[in-house]
Amino acid sequence: MTRPPARRRRIVIYVWLIAALLGLNYWGAHRATEVRRVRVPYSPFFLRQVERGNVAEIASRGTTIQGRFRHATAANASRPATLFSTEIPTFANTNELAGLLQAKGVEVNAQPLDTGLPLWKSLLYGFGPTILFLLLLFTLVRRSGPQGILGALGRSGARRYRHGGAGVTFADVAGIDDAKLELDEVADFLRSPEKYRQLGGRIPRGVLLSGPPGTGKTLLARAVAGEAGVPFFSMSASEFVQAIVGVGASRVRDLFKQARDAAPAIVFIDELDAIGRARGAGASLGGGSDEREQTLNQILTEMDGFDSTVDVIVLAATNRPDVLDKALLRAGRFDRRVVVQPPDARGRRMILDVHARSVPLADDVDLERVAAKTPGMVGAELANLVNEAALLAARRDRSSVTAVDLDDALERLVLGAERKIVLSEQDRRTIAYHEAGHALVGMLTPGADPLRIVSIIPRGSALGITFSSPDADRLNYSRQHLDALIRITLGGRAAETVALGEITTGAEADIVQVTRLARHMVGRWGMSDKVGLLAVIGNGDAPTDGDEFALSTRELVDSEVKRLVEEANAEVIALLRSERQRLDALATALLERETLDELDAYSAAGLPRRDRAAV
Ligand code: ADP
Ligand code: ZN
Repeated sequence: MTRPPARRRRIVIYVWLIAALLGLNYWGAHRATEVRRVRVPYSPFFLRQVERGNVAEIASRGTTIQGRFRHATAANASRPATLFSTEIPTFANTNELAGLLQAKGVEVNAQPLDTGLPLWKSLLYGFGPTILFLLLLFTLVRRSGPQGILGALGRSGARRYRHGGAGVTFADVAGIDDAKLELDEVADFLRSPEKYRQLGGRIPRGVLLSGPPGTGKTLLARAVAGEAGVPFFSMSASEFVQAIVGVGASRVRDLFKQARDAAPAIVFIDELDAIGRARGAGASLGGGSDEREQTLNQILTEMDGFDSTVDVIVLAATNRPDVLDKALLRAGRFDRRVVVQPPDARGRRMILDVHARSVPLADDVDLERVAAKTPGMVGAELANLVNEAALLAARRDRSSVTAVDLDDALERLVLGAERKIVLSEQDRRTIAYHEAGHALVGMLTPGADPLRIVSIIPRGSALGITFSSPDADRLNYSRQHLDALIRITLGGRAAETVALGEITTGAEADIVQVTRLARHMVGRWGMSDKVGLLAVIGNGDAPTDGDEFALSTRELVDSEVKRLVEEANAEVIALLRSERQRLDALATALLERETLDELDAYSAAGLPRRDRAAV
């Protein structure tokens, strides 16, 4: 969630690069002048070498002499070397030395000999890093434009989508017709603003799109721009919030300036809640809240600053409209709210149609069926499903996507990818009975969601899985449905008890789920007569408010929860005992085939598939 924006990462990389280059620069410059010389005593060693004619050349600066021997020579215990240096004592007779040098034909240079490296090398070492550094600086400046490097930090980085180019229109958005209808008006205004102004209508400044992730909010905003044929500037609010205070605000300024210059235009701010949280609410992280506030204020200022002649409409998206600062929702700001809901079965069908347009489908594919099997999925997931199926089909060398590919893709999306672990035969047997228990109880219990798949292939953290989902979207749960859910969840452990006579830890997640469900039924949903219509337990979001109840009431909740679960468990065990043959058959089929779909599972258990219409 808190991943650093790409821009910040890039800046960090630049800083490291610069530091590394500076280091290299220093080292290189050092290397260029540092040549390994041995220090030798002036007298008698140096004088003797001169006399022997072993000194080829010298240079002196002050009292320091640097020179080169003709043959590598060792002074004292040091290793033989050709390059040496020595110090002339102040009392030495330099005239005498000069004469000696001349006599022995020693070359005396005016320059120090200390460029032991060839010229090009010392130039490279000395200046190479500096040149690289300058080049880097240059590209940085060039990329960030005339405002320079610091300016680049504050520029919005708003990605601009030109109409035509991205080409998203309302035809690409499906299944969220209500939202589309409301935004059509916005598109129409941008197309012909005069029409609206003539009648003195006030045009919305800001429209807030709220809805769960992946429902198509961004898509919708782009489609509005595409329909109206205006440029689209988009920015994610989490990118505004930078480490450096004040940068966010200047980015906002820049974003709106770009949009005003290109008007009519659309500004889209994604994840508005990242900066638009109610002030003082939520966990503010040190200086971050300061920055957030400045950025938020800048957005408000920009929106207030529009006069009625500026045709810029701000669309923003959030999945937490409840946490937004009230100031954002005031008139003249985001005073229009459009709720983008997850699609129903019909909507999912239409979204699948949109994404299947570019994919060749085999004749056996029935998108209606796929839509029916995917309750709760949003547009992004459906798009992903089609894509995943296309990839699978390609890997299987097919020329079109078949129903099997779609089913497998759905399985992988819903259940997670398979995990390769080796299980002992005994473990497999336990898992097979456990899952068969869940599945069989589901088949035999009225009010249960239809079984979709049962499998003993480990995926994610689960060793096996029994997956059922409703035919239609559920907005409300009946008592009968909840009772069925509790039974199905208990079915796994019950089957282990009935068939194997022993129980394992494999039912941990089931027990957690059953407890949660039963507590809600008793303590929040008024489904126990003894407790009555009291919300004794919290709902997880709000801190538990059970404190205000007497201890005896809370004890009553606990005992009712326990009774509910224990009664259900006894019934499930009795059911599986009487249906033992079906349980064995289903477990055997699972051990053989590992994964069974609805039809296979029903026939393995020897049951007729339930009439769908009755669900
Ligand atoms: P959000 O902004 O609500 O999180 P996005 O607009 O980013 O969701 O959706 C991501 C992708 O999912 C889109 O680019 C599109 O391919 C697909 N998608 C989502 N909703 C729809 C929809 N209603 N119709 C068609 N495609 C959709
Ligand atoms: Zn289980």
